[in-house]
Amino acid sequence: MSSSSLQLKKVINASGRMTILGVSTLSERVLEEMAFGAQNYFEMDDLVNKAGKKVAEIIGTEDALITNSASASIALAIAGVIGKDNVSLVDHLHDGSIDCDREVLVMKGHNVNYGAPIEVMIRLGGGEVKEVGYANECTVSQMEAAISEKTAAVIYVKSHHCVQKNMASLFEVSELCKNKKIPLLLDAAAEEDIDAYGEVADLIILSGTKAIGGPTSGILAGKGNFITYSKLHLKGIGRAMKVGKEQIFGLLQALEDYSHSGKTKEEQRDMIMPLMELDQLPGVRVTIVADEAGREICRARVQIDDSLTNCHALDVVRQLKEGEDIAIYTRDYHANLGSFDIDPRPLLDGDINTITESVKNIVSGEA
Ligand SMILES: *Cc1c(COP(=O)(O)O)cnc(C)c1O
Repeated sequence: MSSSSLQLKKVINASGRMTILGVSTLSERVLEEMAFGAQNYFEMDDLVNKAGKKVAEIIGTEDALITNSASASIALAIAGVIGKDNVSLVDHLHDGSIDCDREVLVMKGHNVNYGAPIEVMIRLGGGEVKEVGYANECTVSQMEAAISEKTAAVIYVKSHHCVQKNMASLFEVSELCKNKKIPLLLDAAAEEDIDAYGEVADLIILSGTKAIGGPTSGILAGKGNFITYSKLHLKGIGRAMKVGKEQIFGLLQALEDYSHSGKTKEEQRDMIMPLMELDQLPGVRVTIVADEAGREICRARVQIDDSLTNCHALDVVRQLKEGEDIAIYTRDYHANLGSFDIDPRPLLDGDINTITESVKNIVSGEA
């Protein structure tokens, strides 16, 4: 089966690790490991347990569990902290008549939609969402005041999707949770510093395919007892989140490679240099910008002054996506304000030249 027999458009991804485009591409080494996993049998419990320990070693936690998505990791984390070692909750997780603490606190500015609402995954895991603070403000004292005897956990979302200003910091929330003995869950699905949170949170949620660049998968890493609780639910809701043996092998290889890879900021800057040519065009400015969430990413920002070009940035990003043969996806969160970004991380050989030519043609009216 090829993309031509399905009549799919070629896609150039200049937007980042985007679920709507298939997130990331896999290396040969990862594919070889996946083939090994796919073409052999294993005692699956043993594989899951030992692979989890390997993941935990790399992330810097006591134990870990590989799942099929970060969303699954959120749901299983919640199910674990709510159910603890109560096996009857595995069969009756959503039965409200069973007495257990279900309240999960999340700052209002963190209750985001990453493609699916995070609150849906909290409820899938049997939690009841309790928002804290306001859309533009949440202090650690507001969080403290929201904790009740029904509180099962606090979830902190570290993401560019979240409101970044006036939110209690991860460190503050971590200290509070330690003092109050409330489990802290950290959704760091797209973060790059995967080994930075072992001391901060009780459970850490990561995507296996975003920063790490493995196959479609997720990671739940953290304290040994919590991982054990979450694993009980593999025989409950977790069955719908079953991970394949080939994904496990692929993810382990990707993790190993990730610990010594990743393009440096300098390499990223070199990659986007050909785009600077656009800066010569009337009404077009190209600058290099740092990541808004502080990650080790540098991107090119293309600003379009539509009084000089006769087309708005919104038109440019739309025409790039709707190209006849090639669909170019830019990072277009600010297109309404007149600019879009080119993310160098997902670009393949030659892509930057295609993007440069396409933008030039659109802006000069030749597209
Ligand atoms: C992408 C993302 C998720 C979900 O990841 P999946 O693996 O697609 O389920 C969850 N939380 C955040 C903050 C994300 O960026």
